[in-house]
Amino acid sequence: MTIKDCVKKFSSELKLVTHIPAKEVEILIMYLLDKNSIWLHLNYNNEFEKVKELEKLVKQRATNYPLEYIIGKASFYGEQFIVEQGVLIPRPETELLVDNCLEILKDLEKPVKILEIGVGSGIISVMLALLVENIKIIAVDINPNALELAQKNAKKHNVLDKIEFRLSNLYENVLEDDICMTISNPPYIANDYKLPQNVEFEPKNALFGGIVGDELLKNIVKNTADRKIPYLLCEMGYDQKASLESFFKTFSIEKYSFYKDYESFDRGFTI
Ligand code: GLN
Repeated sequence: MTIKDCVKKFSSELKLVTHIPAKEVEILIMYLLDKNSIWLHLNYNNEFEKVKELEKLVKQRATNYPLEYIIGKASFYGEQFIVEQGVLIPRPETELLVDNCLEILKDLEKPVKILEIGVGSGIISVMLALLVENIKIIAVDINPNALELAQKNAKKHNVLDKIEFRLSNLYENVLEDDICMTISNPPYIANDYKLPQNVEFEPKNALFGGIVGDELLKNIVKNTADRKIPYLLCEMGYDQKASLESFFKTFSIEKYSFYKDYESFDRGFTI
């Protein structure tokens, strides 16, 4: 069977789990052969030797298991990151959080020390370390596996010297008093929300934020206010704006703004 035949044959098995089945089969083939897309298209009529292995991966993907976990990588902000099951897969809308953060950081006096709560795979901290000079980041997570993965990504992108990884439940092990910004994409989904099938494979402790969903967000807002940390940027759920807005008021936080995602849903805020 040629590569072309394989793409045709196996894409029909992925129709129910993705709207780009052929593309996904190509990605699996590139993964199995360790080749890029230019090579793939120049060799589309070549014989493909790993049909059995491909079949196995296609079956796994057909259960809705995320492609990123199969191939062990995902792209974020134009860069490649290692991903592993047990840690959240990067989402494109989180790039907006990084954009907003860069916008504020560009006007701040350097060196600057910031805190990321819930570093996960490390996408946010690594991007900021790559794009901002004179920055020190304390990156915490409650999940030791996430910290390990984030360190691998920091190493891959050569920014280990700019990020200190630390096991901490929210602010618990953060005692510094010279942090000028907190950034976080915390779990913000309500515990009883029925997740789409593909998201079921991702860690619950990276997704669910409590009974209402915004509990961890509020904890972060409260800690930022109590500790007088000047800036806070968070991603949030599309329906959490009103409740967070009134929460800000109880802390006399008056300067804040919300931003929307690519689909025009409310998706985050800056304080
Ligand atoms: N900071 C990581 C991300 O944005 C992890 C977030 C999380 O696990 N809730 O992907």
